[in-house]
Amino acid sequence: NKTENQILVIFGASGDLTARKLVPALYNLYVADQLPDNFVVLGASRSDMTDTQFRNRVVLESSYLKDKIKDQDADYINTFANKFFYEDLGGSYDTDYQRLRTRVEDLKNKYQTSGNIIYYLSTPPTLYETIAQRLADAGMSTQNHGWKRLVVEKPFGYSLETAQQLNKGLQQFFKEHQIYRIDHYLGKETVQNLLVTRFANSIFEPLWNRNYIHHVEITNAEKVGVEKRGGYYDKSGALRDMFQNHLLQIVSLVVMEPPISDAPEDIRDEKVKALKSLRIMNDEQTLFDNTIRAQYTSSVIDGKEVKGYREEEGVDKNSTTETYAAIKFFVDNWRWKDIPFYVRTAKRMPTKVTEVVIHFKTPHHQIFKDSGVHDKDNKLIIRIQPDEGILVKFGVKVPGQGFKVERANLDFYYSSLVETHVMDAYERLLLDAMQGDATLYARADEVEAAWEFVDPILKYWEDGKDVRMYGYASGVWGPENSNDLIEGIGEWRNPGPN
Ligand code: NAP
Repeated sequence: NKTENQILVIFGASGDLTARKLVPALYNLYVADQLPDNFVVLGASRSDMTDTQFRNRVVLESSYLKDKIKDQDADYINTFANKFFYEDLGGSYDTDYQRLRTRVEDLKNKYQTSGNIIYYLSTPPTLYETIAQRLADAGMSTQNHGWKRLVVEKPFGYSLETAQQLNKGLQQFFKEHQIYRIDHYLGKETVQNLLVTRFANSIFEPLWNRNYIHHVEITNAEKVGVEKRGGYYDKSGALRDMFQNHLLQIVSLVVMEPPISDAPEDIRDEKVKALKSLRIMNDEQTLFDNTIRAQYTSSVIDGKEVKGYREEEGVDKNSTTETYAAIKFFVDNWRWKDIPFYVRTAKRMPTKVTEVVIHFKTPHHQIFKDSGVHDKDNKLIIRIQPDEGILVKFGVKVPGQGFKVERANLDFYYSSLVETHVMDAYERLLLDAMQGDATLYARADEVEAAWEFVDPILKYWEDGKDVRMYGYASGVWGPENSNDLIEGIGEWRNPGPN
């Protein structure tokens, strides 16, 4: 599947993301012979740099590429580095697009890249709309001589209103099918694995509904704290940073109806339908009963003292930003009516793990009442990270007299299959954008449906209507009362690393 010739224009090319993720991903694609024959990268930002300085910065002297290129032939590396060019924007992202346009034209003619262009916005989000508008004003968004695509980094909006504004803003200048909104948490493999587990097997799907499923639990736990991103995180929080985008992505894949095919638009249609069926929580009592937020406090982990969230650099001493969020909700459709979903995401947990647990109902009539293991233990666990796999927990009889039942596991790990190179998230995303595959990118209606669900919770928390902000010692599974949410049906499954 050779990719068409094209130019990749990166705005914010002097930034961290370009050097740390985008260029290394391009290098991996180069090594894997996945780049088009005629391909150049034009970096653009306010910083003043020559082509040579840009090449040195992001390729030849880049600390992020050092290990990868150190044993390579110089010609081979130079061939890669020479694909990079730079145009400074004269101190502003507002002007000078005619100069940019001329530069793009020159590169296109010289390197025979055709008129296909990706504009990758790796700047602060406040600039996304301005850049889209300037590109359109300069006649650089029209699809006349080759396609034009606009890749927009996350975060996409800060609330429902800002996401809607951003969508509206971008759609004035680019058509929806030209816009690729990054949501890179779930790799393509994982999305495809989930779809295959559900829709290529006839043993799970018949049970995948309210008749057989008791509740669904999704956990995303990170071991680390906010690291160096305190300033950014304090304005965001767990709900915005992880839940609105990444966790609702997982929810949509668990909840969705079978798409009519594996085409990106068919899958995205079903995901949107799923998100639209989440029951929005509007009244205060419901919000009070179904949400929990908390912040990590200082503690000692592996013999090392770790700071509490409010002591982290860049974080307000009186911050009310949550590092733990747990939400219970329902999905109002035929398949899921009245089945509770429990979803949580947090930092400074005992381990790093993301998993979906499908808890099945107990058999209607229980014969083995004294079996020792409650039948509720039938679970299907879809492990997303760190070691992607599937685990089924079921009861088996212990040999010997009577009917003592014990829990057994059937497990499968993807890593046990023949090892293939799984592309890093940015490698995959760049290649997909280059090939026009939007499966992994969020569509406007998808982003808005997710915000619609999350917005009332954020407002409820931020308006100070809920004064509860619990603390949890770094390295434990959240606040003491985290099981309140799940009361009556059990506890969160707190998984180990494997
Ligand atoms: P960054 O290091 O701050 O780079 C952003 C670039 O934008 C800068 O090099 C800067 O270049 C330009 N810029 C223009 N106006 C700016 C302003 N007012 N303040 C700061 N920079 C300005 O940011 P980044 O980490 O590369 O992130 C870029 C985008 O990707 C952001 O939207 C971010 O949310 C998103 N993102 C980043 C990561 C990551 O791991 N870094 C992960 C996910 C998403 P000039 O000054 O030369 O114009």
